[in-house]
Amino acid sequence: MRDKPTPGTKAARCPICGKPSAPSLRPFCSERCKQVDLGRWLSGSYAVPGTPVEPEDKTEG
Ligand SMILES: [Zn+2]
Repeated sequence: MRDKPTPGTKAARCPICGKPSAPSLRPFCSERCKQVDLGRWLSGSYAVPGTPVEPEDKTEG
């Protein structure tokens, strides 16, 4: 699978991993990334205002 950018075509990219998004899962590339984003959104929603949120940089396969 090639990963070459196509000039002139603004393809949506997965906000999670940056891969080209899947048409059926836009803007995500996979169900997994979709769940990841959902989890982030929820955790952000549950965050208490005034509490500094530390950015997580975990990369688990
Ligand atoms: Zn992705």
